[in-house]
Amino acid sequence: MVFYCQRNCFATSYKTVVVACKKSKVQLAASEAATDGKQKSNNKKQKAKEIECYEVLFEDTVLFPEGGGQPDDRGTVQLQSCTQCSNNTANSEEKSSSAPTSGLNNLRNGAHPEDLLTECASNKECCRSCTANVLRVTRRGGEAVHYLDKAFDVGSEVLQRVDWTRRKEHMQQHSAQHLITAIADSLYGFATISWNLGLHTSSIELNTNAVSADQLQELETRVNAVVAAAVAVTVQEYELDDPQLDQGIRSRGLPADHVGGVRVVSITGVDSNMCCGTHVANTAQLQAIKLLCVEGGKQTTLLTFLAGDRLLRYLSDCHSRQRSLHALLNTNPENFVSIVQKTQVSLKVAEKTSKEALRDLASAEAHLFMLSSNRGEQQRNIDKESTTDALTSDVQRCMLQNSETRLWCHHRRLADMDYLNALVSSCDDQGVLKILTAGEEKGPGLLVIDGPPDLVGVLAPQVCSVLEGKGGGRSRFTGKVTALYRREMAYKLVRDYLHNLHTAS
Ligand SMILES: [Zn+2]
Ligand SMILES: [Zn+2]
Repeated sequence: MVFYCQRNCFATSYKTVVVACKKSKVQLAASEAATDGKQKSNNKKQKAKEIECYEVLFEDTVLFPEGGGQPDDRGTVQLQSCTQCSNNTANSEEKSSSAPTSGLNNLRNGAHPEDLLTECASNKECCRSCTANVLRVTRRGGEAVHYLDKAFDVGSEVLQRVDWTRRKEHMQQHSAQHLITAIADSLYGFATISWNLGLHTSSIELNTNAVSADQLQELETRVNAVVAAAVAVTVQEYELDDPQLDQGIRSRGLPADHVGGVRVVSITGVDSNMCCGTHVANTAQLQAIKLLCVEGGKQTTLLTFLAGDRLLRYLSDCHSRQRSLHALLNTNPENFVSIVQKTQVSLKVAEKTSKEALRDLASAEAHLFMLSSNRGEQQRNIDKESTTDALTSDVQRCMLQNSETRLWCHHRRLADMDYLNALVSSCDDQGVLKILTAGEEKGPGLLVIDGPPDLVGVLAPQVCSVLEGKGGGRSRFTGKVTALYRREMAYKLVRDYLHNLHTAS
């Protein structure tokens, strides 16, 4: 079946009747399923989410179901008999359906192409209870299946509206693909194997293992010459067995469940292609085509491109990023790469230096501890405890010494796991119980507990829990903690345990 949207690619709204409606479910990308408006469109690994919805069939549809590499439309479906907003509906319908048509007429009269693809007027006054959002539209045999978030009674008259920004971009990318495919074939004999209309950029897979920079440049020049020539793009419908279909019409085959006649989309004088997609009426509506890059594979090459509105938006995004970088790097764009390279090199040196310095510091700290610890041995039976820095300072050292066990508590705010491990290896006395931490008072921190295995086994899990962390390990316990401001509490727990242990024995 050929749908209304395929016969009238510039129609943004359409009145039709509900033929069937039942409860259903639909898989949506996480970005589309998000109801809080926070879209993570850059996250490629996003999981699909199943949404409860309604599966609705209409007599015909202005909403394009996916096909020919073109994604499906989004939009709304509004009940016509809604008493609360019937007046507004009538107004907006008139606006939205007439604008693109007059635009087309203007083009024929030599009007500026910008007047053309006028956006669908949204019905802001809608009461909302009569309007469903179109979550997905798929093709099942000859039917377009609409997944909506509201149900409609069979027989109701509704007004379908297309998310025109999305659709217009899809039309521009799709027609651009036909044009690039045709010119790449006629210029270099590169056949198109597949193409993908992506969320941001689109790509064409060509059956060649290499496209040279010169070829890419020539291809870009030639496709843009066709854009500038404002060539008509026409659609014709044929019966499946029409002999004309065999005469030089490009096709990558029809889907297995194809029903009815076929459409041939022609760029006058350039290409004829069997396609079910929606297309621009004139190549001037593509505005410009940018071939961004090629990535060669073993047998095929992926050519990434942008056309029309997406190209303009891409350029805006690039420019705003460039402005931000200009402010950050304080140099002209032509120096960006060299300045970033220099910064990366000096950062690597700085990281290496700081790592070495921390390791040296760890060994010095261990040495300091051993010195004072040995001096403490003169007073074997006296518990000695010293805290040289306040809790809030960057470094905290304290020790406890009695006849049986020496305890070394050490904390440094700016340090890493390497530093803590270096402390342990620099203090090679296994008789010392070491409670070592690094990190901010609140937030993520590191914990290492090392020493006599029986003490570590008993005390480490308790200390870790006081510091609100997780960890493990028998003779050397390592953990990630979140409450380093509770260090004193943890130290006290250990001191009390050791004290009780020794007074008992
Ligand atoms: Zn309403
Ligand atoms: Zn196509």
